[in-house]
Amino acid sequence: MDLILRGGRVIDPARGIDGTHDVGFAGGRVATVAPRIAEKAKAERDVAGLLVLPGLIDLHTHVYWGGTSIGVEAEPIARRSGTTTFVDAGTAGPGNFPGFRRHVIEPSPLRILAYLNLSFAGIFAFSRTVMVGESSDIRLLDLGECVRVARENRDLVVGIKVRVGRVTSNTTGIMPLDMAVEVADELGLPIMAHIDQPPPSRKEVLERLRPGDVLTHCYRPFPNSLLRADGAVREEALQARERGVIFDLGHGAGSFGFHACRGLLAAGFRPDVISSDVHVLNVDGPVFDLLTTMSKFLALGMDLATLVEAVTAAPARAIGRPSLGSLAPGSEGDATIVDFESGAFEFRDALGERLDADRRLKLAGMVVGGKWWPDA
Ligand SMILES: [Zn+2]
Repeated sequence: MDLILRGGRVIDPARGIDGTHDVGFAGGRVATVAPRIAEKAKAERDVAGLLVLPGLIDLHTHVYWGGTSIGVEAEPIARRSGTTTFVDAGTAGPGNFPGFRRHVIEPSPLRILAYLNLSFAGIFAFSRTVMVGESSDIRLLDLGECVRVARENRDLVVGIKVRVGRVTSNTTGIMPLDMAVEVADELGLPIMAHIDQPPPSRKEVLERLRPGDVLTHCYRPFPNSLLRADGAVREEALQARERGVIFDLGHGAGSFGFHACRGLLAAGFRPDVISSDVHVLNVDGPVFDLLTTMSKFLALGMDLATLVEAVTAAPARAIGRPSLGSLAPGSEGDATIVDFESGAFEFRDALGERLDADRRLKLAGMVVGGKWWPDA
């Protein structure tokens, strides 16, 4: 065996495990999870008192650094958050995906997968001063190019990203989502659909999503919130969940409000997946990274098993990668080791509302591809 983590509290919701175990890795994969592994390994780490989780998967990120203005670097974020798999949410489109692949994904020590943007240019003009929605010009939406590039990069492309809303699709309205459904049907892949301010309305977006498609920004504040003023959940959201649509948090710079969160949690409408939507305008706050987003949910009362599921097994299911998101023997050898830190902490949502907490999650180590990472 190459590496054994000794004596940590292993939480693996996909297998119903929460208890003290050793975790052994061999050949880049998880080899064994057992109360005590008798065998010795080439490297061993004492993680007693720490939480050992399957490698964290951030389903909504923007990590095409340098290729588009929205992108941030994955590696520094991984080093502080324990994210082992970054799923890029449509930063690149058919016109610039080859550069994403060659210059960012292939050299990365971390796993990067991607939703391919329907728009040829990807999210090409996103900054504090320049904001042009990539879905707003019909000339950028070529279905044939999207199908071709998705097929050429099938090892990396997990679905099709489309952004519709007042800002992102502007005068094209709901049309880009209908075009994305056409492409996704042809490819047999799911869609990740973004909502922002209407038009289109959440109802128009949700009624088009198919089982297995993802709605991101599911806890966005007014307007287009899934929470009604009287505290109930919008009927169209309940119907979509019933049909098998996946609800993703996608914190972002404008898409996560504590008010909507508290109301929807109280109404029993949990996000299936918790993700950061980390990008250039929120990486230095209020989002920072996935681990910070998880700490917010702990402060909002979510139990640990539900929270871990939402950043491991649930996103693995959403992208159709059963070898990720669990410490089942034979899985990819990724793990995230965290600890609770006590103190006085202050979190902010996308509207600037403050949330005080007396503990947060702190990264204690990572295993990437069966090896402790980064190497000392
Ligand atoms: Zn995003």
